Amino acid sequence: MSRSVHRVVVVGGGITGLTAAYRLAQAGAGDAKLEIDLVERSDRLGGKIFTEHIDNFLVEGGPDTFLTRKPEAIALCNELGLGDRLIPTNPALRRSFVSRRGKLHQLPEGMSGFVPSKLGPLFWSGVLSLGGKLRAASELFVPRYTGDAEESVAAFVRRRLGREAYDRLVEPLLCGIHAGDGEQLSLLAVAPILRDMEEEKGSVLRGLRLATKAAADEVKKFPTPFVSLAGGLQELIGALERNLGIVRVRTGLQAIAARRNEGTLVFQLSNGEEIRATAAIFATPSFATADLLQTINPPASRELGKIRFVSNAAVAMGFRTRDVTRALNGYGYVVPRCENTMVLACSWASSKLPNRAPDGNVLVRVFLGRDGQEVDDTQSDDALIQTARNEVRTVLGASTDPVFARLFRYPQAMPQYTLGHLDRLAQIDRALEATPGVFLAGNSYRGAGIPDCIRSGQQAASNTLRYLEGVID
Ligand SMILES: Cc1cc2nc3c(=O)[nH]c(=O)nc-3n(C[C@H](O)[C@H](O)[C@H](O)COP(=O)(O)OP(=O)(O)OC[C@H]3O[C@@H](n4cnc5c(N)ncnc54)[C@H](O)[C@@H]3O)c2cc1C
Repeated sequence: MSRSVHRVVVVGGGITGLTAAYRLAQAGAGDAKLEIDLVERSDRLGGKIFTEHIDNFLVEGGPDTFLTRKPEAIALCNELGLGDRLIPTNPALRRSFVSRRGKLHQLPEGMSGFVPSKLGPLFWSGVLSLGGKLRAASELFVPRYTGDAEESVAAFVRRRLGREAYDRLVEPLLCGIHAGDGEQLSLLAVAPILRDMEEEKGSVLRGLRLATKAAADEVKKFPTPFVSLAGGLQELIGALERNLGIVRVRTGLQAIAARRNEGTLVFQLSNGEEIRATAAIFATPSFATADLLQTINPPASRELGKIRFVSNAAVAMGFRTRDVTRALNGYGYVVPRCENTMVLACSWASSKLPNRAPDGNVLVRVFLGRDGQEVDDTQSDDALIQTARNEVRTVLGASTDPVFARLFRYPQAMPQYTLGHLDRLAQIDRALEATPGVFLAGNSYRGAGIPDCIRSGQQAASNTLRYLEGVID
């Protein structure tokens, strides 16, 4: 008996949707019975990932590096022939700072992601007061949590390491990555490893020390925990695009509605066209997926609509090196929420990575906005650029006009894994059982980093292929 043609629609052409479509295409190569459509609202693929060339500066519009510890992104780069394009962040300048009343303090060496893993450097660093350091060190003796309530990042870290370590070290690093509010972020959704360490080793500091030793071999492969691509992360998008094979790429088209008709999914596109599909991967932000699932699966749609997003922005600026009085001898700095500014961080892009600025120039990116202090439409472009310029004038001594300044806005870009997030995901999964053939992927669910998104796209593709095998023709 011959199989009928199966069409899969992938909605959203960011890194997640591209990876999913690429995996489907690999599986479907030579199979005339599989058709794949990738529908992307904007005119270009890549979503949050895009690289621009401005006056000989190489400027990342969104992310600029990804973690080596999570293997999916490096494996995908190797598979796509980009292995020799991978570049580590500059190992000689591997240090970051935290700002306190406009002054920069070096973060203690041995900060394992966002928590100090070594006590020695913590004691020498000027970030915490003596009392704050002693309280952080006493973490080794803090008893395990025995309550039932889900803890926020803030509650967990304050309980174990003390208020100062939370405010000055962990909040700007861990919550800053999410542009989030630690009082709202769920520890189990954002950094479950910290809870595991408490449970298994009785202490986060002890757990991190052991984990750091275990990771030593991994680290040797790359001298720093983050890598990028020589020509910017756009290279990854370009390579995926070139390898989409049988995928029909439909950019500049929005999926505006979806319904189910006798087991078939019917998508309505912004040009009036309809596409019918056996299965679909929604690689869109959860609020967009919620809209599309409104009639197909109302309970899943309702839960998806509860995942909050935060809007923020970044201002990229080029300066002549001689016009910046502070040495940019690190990767940049983070700004704690308790400093009460909308500046979240300042990345020294040309110190972190090679070839980001022409000789004699530097490139910095100032990130603005976080949960509770969001960037919104009432703030003009000029006002945001001015905020960033004031910041670099005060902290870096860059008082001349920049060679260029470019604002990037990220509306509704940062998913917030708030308290109850894991329960919401479980409810969404349960609700989706009623609509087989519908798969979700992307940064809204189980990790927002590039490797997380790649893993999520790959999983959605393999679940889709498994589903298609089981569909009776
Ligand atoms: C400023 C910033 C800096 C970051 N820095 C880093 C970093 O350094 N390292 C790191 O690992 N991660 C970083 N991240 C996170 C990471 O970039 C994102 O989580 C990831 O790129 C999201 O990919 P995605 O494909 O899931 O979503 P997106 O990139 O958002 O893609 C979703 C796509 O769906 C499309 N779409 C939406 N609705 C529809 C519709 N109805 N029909 C058709 N198409 C639709 C959108 O146009 C978009 O292209 C950063 C994020 C931001 C915002």
